[in-house]
Amino acid sequence: MFQRVIFVVFSLVFAVSLLGAQNAKEDPVWEEFCLKGEFDLGWRYQGLKPEAGEFYPAEWCVISSKDSPNVRYSGKAYSNPDSESHFTVLYLPPNTVQIVNEGPQPDLLFEGAIIGAESQMIKRLDPRRLAEDVQANPGWVVSRSGNGMIDVRFPGSLFVSTVSIVDSRASSFYTDVDLPLRGRVRAVWEWKSEGEDHGEKAVLTVDGTVIFRASSTRRVLSAEEVTKVFEPAEDEPEPISIPGKAWPSRIAMRVDTVETGVHIIRNVRTGFHHLVVETAKGLVVADAPAGWVEMNQLPASDLVPGMGISGLSEAFIDFLGGHFPGTSVRSVVLTHAHDDHAGGARAFAASGAEIYAPKGSSNFLQISLNRKEMPVDRLSMAGRKATITPVDGRFTISDQYRPVEALTLGPNPHVNAMLGVFLPKQKILFVSDIHVPGSDSPSPPEDRSKSECWFANWAVKNLPQETRIFNSHSQVVTTVELMDKWTASAVCRR
Ligand SMILES: [Zn+2]
Repeated sequence: MFQRVIFVVFSLVFAVSLLGAQNAKEDPVWEEFCLKGEFDLGWRYQGLKPEAGEFYPAEWCVISSKDSPNVRYSGKAYSNPDSESHFTVLYLPPNTVQIVNEGPQPDLLFEGAIIGAESQMIKRLDPRRLAEDVQANPGWVVSRSGNGMIDVRFPGSLFVSTVSIVDSRASSFYTDVDLPLRGRVRAVWEWKSEGEDHGEKAVLTVDGTVIFRASSTRRVLSAEEVTKVFEPAEDEPEPISIPGKAWPSRIAMRVDTVETGVHIIRNVRTGFHHLVVETAKGLVVADAPAGWVEMNQLPASDLVPGMGISGLSEAFIDFLGGHFPGTSVRSVVLTHAHDDHAGGARAFAASGAEIYAPKGSSNFLQISLNRKEMPVDRLSMAGRKATITPVDGRFTISDQYRPVEALTLGPNPHVNAMLGVFLPKQKILFVSDIHVPGSDSPSPPEDRSKSECWFANWAVKNLPQETRIFNSHSQVVTTVELMDKWTASAVCRR
């Protein structure tokens, strides 16, 4: 009897351990790694002022497994002082990526996208995955030095990066990044382990300044949670399929003519629309879109890898040259100093255009656009510099047929110095991020109410009644009449 019990117990233990071994082989272990802390929008030129020290809460999470290429990346962070953004992206290599929308809104499925290198890069936000990736790919290693530092060239990266690995985790990571208004600068990640089974303290320093500091957490997901992450729930709507070439941001420029000689160039990249006015002395353009940058191991942002800092504005200018033959760009008006709106100004300087900017940020732009760290572009090839003309109050770029005014909007919830572009004859105003209407509803969206109500009040006070208002990030055209309704709405009267 006793022997029989022993045998049963032994068999059970054997069976359970066998099961465990099989599980380990068949089911990869999925971990969620999160960094929760604060990110410096001022340093990244997305804050109120273009200077370091304007920290906002930020959280990035990566769900990944050592044994699968799939990655889920989600974030909650401020993209500007006046807008918090949430996002979830599922990377399903080799060629599918999905934007996961909460609630009844269907997901967006980009099929045929080239995402192998990008998904691996996202995975490497977790320093354990970074170490595994380097150790599993000896072909990426360029050299090893005696002090344990490993030089690596990741697929798809311009740069050789250096990593040190301690106890199967990266403890530091050095790389170069190309950033608009800053140029090619050093980025350093450091992770200090808080002991086994605890997280790390993560610090990101760029160009000598701490721009992100966070604590990490790590946990193993249950099988049920993994299923939820990678398989849609039954009641979810079918995702909308989008061609992969639209990922992550598509250039599909087209001209929408709104009045004789007045145009909105749509989709300079996804969600970027620019005003272009034909004058007797050439084109006047609103805003110089930032080139796309190397984001090697930098946290998520609205800048997208590829094309270099000046490349997108260079492509924009080439497009204008093709569409308006024989007409050059006379001026570009930078609405504000955020990197996505002003970062491409070097391309306009190279084409011979005047550059106007709000007085409050013109010194900053004068210095930052001419930093010696700028990678090679048309301006550096021409051996020239960008010169900024400050605008205070109301300035007219004169023209006998179509005068264009740069109007100072002043400090607001989005940024401390801002211009709008106004056509007094046509009564058209172009503004950027302070006004991004999602619809022509009689009240502004709650989550953008600070900026929208500020702008509505400004518009009612400063614009002629019949003015039509165009903006850089949506296709909705609004009126002063509507702005008047917004100022009276419950959202703005609070
Ligand atoms: Zn902005």
